[in-house]
Amino acid sequence: MDNDLKKNKIDYFPSISSDNKELFSLLNRTSKILCEWFSETKSLSPLPSNKDFKCSIPNESGCDIKLLLEDIHNLIYCSFNPSHPGSLAHLDPPPLAISIVGDLISGGLNNNLLAEELSPCISIVEKEICNWIANQIGFNNLSGGIAASGGTLNNLNALVTARFISGLESDPNACFVISEDAHSSFKKCARILGIKQENIILVKTDNNGCMFIPSLIQEIDKAKNLGKKIFSIIATLGTTIRGAIDPVNEIAQICREKNIWFHIDGSIGGIFSISNNSLLEKLNINVANSITINPQKLLGIAKTSSLLLVSDISNLKRTFYTGLPYVDSSNEILNRGELGIQGSRPSEIIKLWLGLRYLGTKGIDNILEETISKKSFFEEILDNNKFDTFTGPLHIITFIPKNMNKENSDQWTLKVKNSLLRNKIMISRPFYKGRYLLRIVFGNYNTSESDIREMADFLNKQLEK
Ligand SMILES: *Cc1c(COP(=O)(O)O)cnc(C)c1O
Repeated sequence: MDNDLKKNKIDYFPSISSDNKELFSLLNRTSKILCEWFSETKSLSPLPSNKDFKCSIPNESGCDIKLLLEDIHNLIYCSFNPSHPGSLAHLDPPPLAISIVGDLISGGLNNNLLAEELSPCISIVEKEICNWIANQIGFNNLSGGIAASGGTLNNLNALVTARFISGLESDPNACFVISEDAHSSFKKCARILGIKQENIILVKTDNNGCMFIPSLIQEIDKAKNLGKKIFSIIATLGTTIRGAIDPVNEIAQICREKNIWFHIDGSIGGIFSISNNSLLEKLNINVANSITINPQKLLGIAKTSSLLLVSDISNLKRTFYTGLPYVDSSNEILNRGELGIQGSRPSEIIKLWLGLRYLGTKGIDNILEETISKKSFFEEILDNNKFDTFTGPLHIITFIPKNMNKENSDQWTLKVKNSLLRNKIMISRPFYKGRYLLRIVFGNYNTSESDIREMADFLNKQLEK
């Protein structure tokens, strides 16, 4: 091999006999591109202006690092940029810096959370972090948790467990209860679980987007009369559309009386349980049997980062334990592939662990309080003579023009969403109860007060006569 080519080459795998200069240089050069992208964010926009990304296809001889670095550069500069101050559309904040390191280390270690022998200390980290959060929630020492790649999977982990523990896993009348504003993942869960559409019991929400308890009670009676058997009621702690929090205490009471598994989908708001913020103070979320929490959302731990916390870890063991014939397995051994749906699993817990360690509860409070105060500020300066707004105690706000019919309003929201995007502000336009709304998620640490003011002024101006 001639020297020039060699300079660009690294071994297929990290070297075990040299100082890995080439790998080190590759990581440095890649980091440089990534860091430059962060630094240049303000001159870019939330969505790439450069639309001509082409995915190069692998060839026979492979390609050298120089070309790969060009691929990496193009990929980065053609990507959605959650760090841009105008990225306000979804629950996708900028990545917490230290969590980027977590993914790098996870990739480098290439351990496997399937089995303790494949991830001896990371299995401990996952167990300890889950226990710590379970403790913050107020669960006792039977509790624990598991990480999975996203809230959808953790909601599924919870429902599979709830149905199994209730003994209804092969009962065609098994059903679960959610509010009409619950996340779409539950529909997916139902399909995976083989639960028919009519066995998802939808409860009406009130004017604040919270599960309406009289309607819940009615639906439970109706289900009973139809011979249906409820294996779980789900409360949402922060709905995706408007950040509403279901009446946890009342739902918990009903679940207790009827001996039904109580799951809380805290994908958005659950993170407040590890904060000193008083948001969840009056909610006894520790009466739940299981809670999904997505640190990838409000804390910005690089995706994916999601946990399922359970009040009794033995329920996960009973549900998912099959024995792993090819690895060491005994009561003392912590094979975390036997606590959930996923088998081989990356060490996603590292980035959460590093993130939580770095922030401390003060740092967590700072981030959470900042997001909510940005929402409140926007709510204050958006002209409430011109807009109807829908929001809860969280950082999400949804709005439509006041007194405008559906057709005009649907057109108006589309026009405004697009013109905001031309001004480098990306918000979303969800479909909710028969019409389109505009929605802003204030989870972006980089959005300044003046950015918010500019956006509100722009919106107010759009409705001037
Ligand atoms: C985001 C979200 C989910 C799903 O989480 P993923 O990580 O996207 O799978 C579930 N429930 C709620 C309320 C959410 O906002």
